[in-house]
Amino acid sequence: MQRAHNFGAGPGVLPVEVLEEAREALLSFGETGVGILELSHRSDAFVAARQEAEARLRRLAGVGDDWAVLFLQGGASLQFHMVPLNLGAAGDYVLTGVWSQKALEEARRLETPTARPHVAATSEPTGFDRIPGALDLRPDAAFVHYTSNNTIYGTQWHHLPEVGGAPLVVDASSDIFSRPMDFSRHALVYAGAQKNLGPSGVTVVFVRRDLLARSAGRGLPPMLDYAVQAKNDSSYNTCPTFGIYLVGLVARWIEGAGGLPAMAERNARKAARVYAAIDAAPGVFRGHARPEARSQMNVTFRLPDAAAERRFLEGAEARGLVGLKGHRSVGGVRASLYNALPEAAVDALVDWMQEFVARGAH
Ligand code: PMP
Repeated sequence: MQRAHNFGAGPGVLPVEVLEEAREALLSFGETGVGILELSHRSDAFVAARQEAEARLRRLAGVGDDWAVLFLQGGASLQFHMVPLNLGAAGDYVLTGVWSQKALEEARRLETPTARPHVAATSEPTGFDRIPGALDLRPDAAFVHYTSNNTIYGTQWHHLPEVGGAPLVVDASSDIFSRPMDFSRHALVYAGAQKNLGPSGVTVVFVRRDLLARSAGRGLPPMLDYAVQAKNDSSYNTCPTFGIYLVGLVARWIEGAGGLPAMAERNARKAARVYAAIDAAPGVFRGHARPEARSQMNVTFRLPDAAAERRFLEGAEARGLVGLKGHRSVGGVRASLYNALPEAAVDALVDWMQEFVARGAH
């Protein structure tokens, strides 16, 4: 069985070495004689794996014990709700796409006459093709929320928002650990694992411990309370064991490959090649993101019409290039170039783009 080149936006490609190790662990995890899917979340062997995963994430993030690292369920979408539930509804939101809009909707659900969310900036008027410039921030905002990489539109922040003293919260689902990020400028970082970290079913949340006081003792549903989850090491109930295990393997793979600087360098190289192929054929390919906002994780582009897009995608599929169809809300083509996507996959995509242009098949 030959593996396809998987450009899917998530769940996305994982490192082969990780999958091979996990395959062994399905039958017996270490010396336990029990498969990883069958192992108690409270067994010594699993607890050690969870602690190791957490330690590796802390190292990659550069955070110490003043942060809690949580492994939760419910996807990034549940974090849209948990953030305002725990920190207060009066957040300032920077809207750069559908995911940040959904985050805002959850805060609106929780608003009270004295705690309302606020839109600090939006790039919706230009079809989410850029990162907004000036932010209209409130001095007393409970937090400022942004989405570091916009998976659907293919835009990415290349600087950190300036927010003064407000706690900065980021949905980093689609670019976490693709490059170094200054966690010390943030207060809460969350990411669904299924793009750069592991499988679906686990969401990693880094939260500065001083923020836990905002929810502690308020009687929130325990599963939705960061303080409860932190106090119980993410094991208030049965934690998503397989996902946590796999996140640990992926973190080890990142460290072994040279850490975040090495990821950033490779990702920049991969993205530059695809953007160059787009820019080389402006009559055929049209990038969605403005050049200064281009994402290194999700490259989005259109062809002249739907028929050309179909021919492009069919030809790609025939060459073993899969997962390239754009998100249903915007259409076109989207090449997701997550950490684990090999450079050979990018070579194959660029070859096909050049062949498509040369053939005049558009
Ligand atoms: N935020 C971003 C940036 C995403 O790309 C996605 C999923 N593609 C989500 C949030 C929603 O994640 P989940 O499906 O884990 O709820």
